[in-house]
Amino acid sequence: MTDPHAPSAADADDVERHPCPRCGVQPGSPCRSRGGAVAGTYHTGRFTKVSRLAKLLRVQTPADRGPGQPWRPGTPPPTPVVEDTPVAISLPVHQSFQDISQQQAADYSYQPGGDEDPVLGGHEITIVGYNNQGVRVENSWGGNWGDGGYVNLSWDFLAGQVQEANAIGKLVQ
Ligand SMILES: [Zn+2]
Repeated sequence: MTDPHAPSAADADDVERHPCPRCGVQPGSPCRSRGGAVAGTYHTGRFTKVSRLAKLLRVQTPADRGPGQPWRPGTPPPTPVVEDTPVAISLPVHQSFQDISQQQAADYSYQPGGDEDPVLGGHEITIVGYNNQGVRVENSWGGNWGDGGYVNLSWDFLAGQVQEANAIGKLVQ
């Protein structure tokens, strides 16, 4: 058990999904001090909403959130992905999809390029969840591809690329 808890981006993201009952900031922003700066730690009433952090005495604000700097409202994170009935979709796979970076696979920004981004063939992948940004997709190319084997695709991408979709219900009731 370490105290103070070492700041991590994943912890900060989870804390910042919640508004703060103490300083009143909305999701997407670090906590705000009375002086109008980014607080050095999250307020207890906020980080205790994240169950794995609830027993800690304090959670520090990571350096990239600018503790001590003038506070500005941030961008709310996407709502957590909701798990649902898997939906298999087929789509054309471009070179850029095969070469997708971890960052791009995580941030819902992927779109195929133009003529310099050839289609390699058709492919089928499986939607396993969704949120207000788009869908989370499990691929079959192993854990070294994309975001640990997954990719987050925007609703815009789906509208432009999907050729066929089939919901996979329970086969045995
Ligand atoms: Zn706060």
